[in-house]
Amino acid sequence: MNPAAAPAHTRAAVLSIGDELVRGQMLDTNSKWLSSRLLDLGVETVEHATIGDSREATTAAITRLAALAPLVVITGGLGPTADDLTREGLADAIGESLVVDAPALEDLRAKFAKRGRTMSPMQARQAERPASARCLTNPSGTAPGLAGVVRAGGPHGASDVWCLPGPPKELEPMFERLLAEDLRPPRGLTTRVRLLTVAGLGEGDAAKRAGELMARDRNPLVGITASNAVLTWRVMYRGPLPPAEADAEIERTVAALKAATGPHVISDRGEPLEHVALAALRSASRTLAVVESCTGGLLGSIVTGVAGSSDVFLGGLLTYSNELKTALAGVDAALIARHGAVSLDVAGAMAAGGLSRLGTSDCLAITGIAGPGGGTESKPVGTVSIAHARRDGERVEVDARTFWMPGGREQVRAYAARTALGLLALRQINSERPGPMLFESVR
Ligand code: ATP
Repeated sequence: MNPAAAPAHTRAAVLSIGDELVRGQMLDTNSKWLSSRLLDLGVETVEHATIGDSREATTAAITRLAALAPLVVITGGLGPTADDLTREGLADAIGESLVVDAPALEDLRAKFAKRGRTMSPMQARQAERPASARCLTNPSGTAPGLAGVVRAGGPHGASDVWCLPGPPKELEPMFERLLAEDLRPPRGLTTRVRLLTVAGLGEGDAAKRAGELMARDRNPLVGITASNAVLTWRVMYRGPLPPAEADAEIERTVAALKAATGPHVISDRGEPLEHVALAALRSASRTLAVVESCTGGLLGSIVTGVAGSSDVFLGGLLTYSNELKTALAGVDAALIARHGAVSLDVAGAMAAGGLSRLGTSDCLAITGIAGPGGGTESKPVGTVSIAHARRDGERVEVDARTFWMPGGREQVRAYAARTALGLLALRQINSERPGPMLFESVR
């Protein structure tokens, strides 16, 4: 392959191979990960295809997708068993037979020897490749990947086809290395992508505020995605400007989006909400505790999912019953009797109780009705009260709010946990009580 003569990678197709995928036994997360990563680099995915473990279907899919895009990324079907047929399918699409790759065979043998095992002839199949293709080292697993060129009659002439293992832990590092080594950005075309994390704002509201900034013919192009009550603005420049000028264009659009979105932008580098919330507390030497009811530990789990969270997050109370809200968080039983367990007052008391009993500077509390049962006319399923208590010296401030979260049990819980973190992040970053938030019910 002569890289200089090969087509630029502006578009890609992603092919997932596996009977378990087409039979609905497993969710194809590789396509999602790959196309999102490609888009970060300015390569648009034009199609996701999924097929079962069949040599003929693999050949047909590679041939078809290679005509569509100059880059085809395939995952799965590289293992040693009889149903792993990606190698054969690629060889047929190129029109070559399989040969044994001596360094890959040696590498496989060494991997087996290291584990005290001998390699069977079936395992040795994994070192085969189409004659003109390359084997790609797999540092996290056994099956090597493959990189070949398929001439399939598309306007781009030929396509690079990368075959990578199915397990995400093997696929992801191999893909990152290929990007560095083999991804060819178009000559004279600069691509820059920036992500902004937005808390407490709905997609429709954000789009309305952005107005013309979201025009489809704009460059930089602005897009928006919502996930678990958190929004991400994606700003992508693609055009002839040199990189420094493209960066300046991106900055101008980012500034305009920030002006339009107000204090809701909590990161202009696309950092996840929980990272931003913890970093904001850390930089002010503050500490966090949680008191959870309907989320059952989800909030604590999200927070502790961030590496290094222990210097900010001290722990929490799981108070599902009214009795434990009283016994552990010190919520007055009369308050629960008067207002109900899901109420502004109880959420506020849970947060204040956690703050004083756990000795942190900040405490988040969540109490709600995740459903499907338990709703009433005045407090339907999805009613969630969230409070943030914070101590500044002798002063304790409690911000309690009630929300109506849409969706089923899991969605309500996921939204509730992220909304609590959003409330905390917005308060800490902007040094003022946040305005009305997404799903908040204004009394
Ligand atoms: P191996 O050497 O592990 O057999 P392989 O390339 O043959 O690698 P498969 O056998 O097709 O891969 O898949 C192995 C595992 O990888 C699957 O059981 C699944 O856990 C995961 N996997 C495969 N494809 C996908 C996908 N599209 N999305 C998410 N996970 C996947």
